[in-house]
Formats: sequence, C-alpha cells, structure tokens
Amino acid sequence: MQDLTEGVARFQRDVFPAKAELFAHLAAHHTPRTLFIGCSDARVVPELITGSEPGDLFVIRTAGNLVPAYRPGGDGVAASVEYAVSALGVSDVVVCGHSGCGAMTALAGRHDLSDAPAVADWLRHADAAQARTAATGDVSALIRQNVLAQLANLTTHPSVARARAENRLTLHGWVYDIATGGVENLSAAGPESATAA
Ligand SMILES: [Zn+2]
Repeated sequence: MQDLTEGVARFQRDVFPAKAELFAHLAAHHTPRTLFIGCSDARVVPELITGSEPGDLFVIRTAGNLVPAYRPGGDGVAASVEYAVSALGVSDVVVCGHSGCGAMTALAGRHDLSDAPAVADWLRHADAAQARTAATGDVSALIRQNVLAQLANLTTHPSVARARAENRLTLHGWVYDIATGGVENLSAAGPESATAA
C-alpha cells in the first residue's frame, strides 16, 4: 500500500501539473471514442498499450475479458456496455485477449475450479470458445476463439445491435502478447469474425 501512496504523491507532484490543461478539460467533459474490454490481468494495461490519454478509453476489465450475452435484468458489464454505447456514443469497441491468460489457461487445461465456484460460473461465458478448441487443449487457440465469442456475445446487447444497425459502431478483436508487446488484430482473421469486423 505504501507503493500506492507514494505513487499518488508522484502523480500529484509530477504527472498532474504536466497535464493540467487536459485534466481541467476532462473535469467537465467525458467523451471517449472507444470502449475497451480487456482482462483484469495486471499486465494488460489498456491505456499503456494503446498510447491513450485519460479520457480516451471507456474501460471494462473482467476475468478472461468475458462479456456475458445479453439477458433481461442486466449486470454490471451490461450496464457499462450500454452506457458506453448509448449514452457516450463510442464509435468503436475493442475486445482484447492476451497471452498467458489465467482464465483461458484454466479452461484449456480443464483445471479443477471446485475451490473457486464464482470463477467456474463466470468462465461458463467462454463455453462456446471452449467448445471450438476443446479437442486440442491449445491455449492460444482458445484465447483467440474467446475474443471472437465475446464479440458475438456483445452483438446480443440491444444497445450494440442498435448502433451497428445504424452503422455507427465498429467491433474489433485483438490479442495482446505480453512478451513482445505485439497486438494481433483478429478482425480480418476469418469467417467467424466477419460479424464483428
Ligand atoms: Zn487474462
């Protein structure tokens, strides 16, 4: 915690003054152009890997970068998607998977999750991706299929469906490689991504 306290002090001393004009603008404006949906993994930092400034990205991070398909009643992810798309009017959504994803590794390796029932339940939102790659147990294939499956889940949200029908929203699938810093764009990867391109 000491690290964080010192970090806040450094932010206030060095970072904030250097961007004072930007923060003054942001105090009264919230107009991100992109909804970035990534994994909660500490190594995948959306603003860092996209070179974005505060105010640029509306971010949702979940274990395994999962986006549950829409169902009436809603949840935290659905509410954030709807707010970004309908209220803020973002023009792009990125679903970003990553190398070494613990969630995908657990699924591909069929790890025993009986001691983590909430995780086991949550990872059911990757069932379609797992079904496509179960025969191989290949984690990197699952990571890619999972991004495509979550893009498909996104399209079930009414706010997303409406924005796409009006040609004002584009969906993108990425995979970030932690070791190299590479970002693979899956949008042109094949027929399964066609609905998301
Ligand atoms: Zn992950």
